[in-house]
Amino acid sequence: MPLPRLRALQDERLKDLVSRVYAKVPYYRNAFDNSGVTPTSIKGVADIAKLPFTKKVALRDNYPFDLFAVPMEEVSRLHCSSGTTGKPIVVGYTAYDLDVFSELIARSLYATGCRPGMKLQNAYGYGLFTGGLGLHYGAEKLGMTVIPVSGGMTDRQLMLMKDFRPEALCCTPSYAQTLAEELVKKGMSFSDINLKYAVLGAEPWTEAIRSQVEAGLNLKASNIYGLSEVMGPGVSVEDVDERGTGSYIWEDHFFPEIVDKDSGEPVPEGESGVLVLTTLTKQAIPMIRYWTNDITSLHYDKAGKRTHVKMAPIIGRADDMLIIRGVNLFHTQVEDIINSIDDISANYQLIVFRDGNMDEVEVVAEVTDDLLQSLDLAPGAELAKHDRVATLRGYFSKKIKDVIGLSMRVTLKEPFAIPRSEGGKLNRIIDKRK
Ligand code: ADP
Repeated sequence: MPLPRLRALQDERLKDLVSRVYAKVPYYRNAFDNSGVTPTSIKGVADIAKLPFTKKVALRDNYPFDLFAVPMEEVSRLHCSSGTTGKPIVVGYTAYDLDVFSELIARSLYATGCRPGMKLQNAYGYGLFTGGLGLHYGAEKLGMTVIPVSGGMTDRQLMLMKDFRPEALCCTPSYAQTLAEELVKKGMSFSDINLKYAVLGAEPWTEAIRSQVEAGLNLKASNIYGLSEVMGPGVSVEDVDERGTGSYIWEDHFFPEIVDKDSGEPVPEGESGVLVLTTLTKQAIPMIRYWTNDITSLHYDKAGKRTHVKMAPIIGRADDMLIIRGVNLFHTQVEDIINSIDDISANYQLIVFRDGNMDEVEVVAEVTDDLLQSLDLAPGAELAKHDRVATLRGYFSKKIKDVIGLSMRVTLKEPFAIPRSEGGKLNRIIDKRK
C-alpha cells in the first residue's frame, strides 16, 4: 500500500480504536481521563503520543477479562502468554480478530517463502501459547497443508520430516538448532528431508543461529515476531529475500513506536529503545501503546519489496538486560561475537554470579565438532588444556572485552555439553544471584 494511503488508514483506525476503548473499557476510560486526553483530541497517528502507555501490569490487574472490549459471547478463543511467575496474561479474540490473525500469518508465511500447496511442519507448541494455533490457521488460510506436530518429540519430528517431506518448518530458533543437530546424530542427510524454508521466532536470535540452522537443515530461515498481548506471532516478519535487513511490521494493523526505556520519550529513527505497539483493529482486547519491553529499532529507510516499516532483530527484553558492573548486557551481544568465530558453535549459556561484592559473568560455550575432531585428543585428555582451545579461549575473551567492554570468564566445552531446547523457548541466562 502506498505510504499516504497507509497513513490515512492508520489515522482512521486509530480514531475508531480510541473511541471504542473509551466507551467499552473502564480501565482505558480512567487512564485517558487521568492523562487529560479525550478520544476526540486524537485526530490520527500524529497524536498518538498524547495517549498513555499500557503496561503488562494492566493485564495482571485486570485478570482475567476486565480489559475485554466486547461481551464474552463475542469472544471466540482465549490464549495466554506463558507468564513465568504467578497468573498468566489472558487474551481473547473475536471471530474477526482470528480472521486478522490468520490473514497476517498467511502474509508472513508468504514473505518467508511459503506458498499454497507446500506442507508446513508446525513445531510451535499447541495449546494456550499463541504460536501453535496461530501458525496453524494462517498456514491453512494460505493454502498450505499443515502438519500439527507441536513442539518436542524430536525423533517424531525427524520421522515426519522424512516421511511427509514438508517444504517448511516453524518453531523456535533454539529448537531448530536441536533439530539440525539431531538430524546429524540420527545419521540422516539432506536427501532425507525436503525443507526449503524455516519460520523462526518467539525468542531472540542472531545471525549465529541463522547460519547454524540454514547450514544444518539446508534451508532459508526467516524471523517472525509477535507477542500474545498484541496478537501472537505475525506482528512482523522478515522477507526471505531480504534476510538480515529487518522484519516488516504489518503497519495496517499495528502502529509501532520506539521510546526510551527510562523516559518513555520517542527516540530518533534508527536508535534502539522499547517497542510500543498499538493494535489498530483488534476488537476483543485492544491495546493502546502497549509497552512490549522488547528492545529494537525502526527503519523507515530500508523499504524493500514492501512499504511497511522494518524493525531490527530484538536485542532482548528490557527486563532480561543484565547490568554487570555498570555495563548493560544482553545475551544476544555475546551471540553476535560467537558468530564471528568459526570454531565456536551457537550453543552457549551465560552464568551470572556474585564473587564477593562483584557481579561476574561466565560464558560457557561449545567448540564445534570440526574443531574437536581436528584436535585428535588423547583419551582422558582435557579439552580446555589443549593449546588450540586455550588460544581460542583467549581470543574469545579478548573479543568480548573489546566489543562489550566487560571481562567475562570463558569456559569452552565439548559439543553437546550445554542443554538444548526440547521444543520451546530456551533460557540462555542462568542468574545465580537470585
Ligand atoms: P511470554 O512473554 O510469556 O514469553 P509470548 O509467548 O507471547 O509470551 O512471547 C512474546 C515475547 O517473545 C515477545 O515479547 C518477545 O520478547 C519474544 N519474541 C517473540 N518473537 C520474537 C522474535 N522473533 N525475536 C525475539 N524475541 C521474540
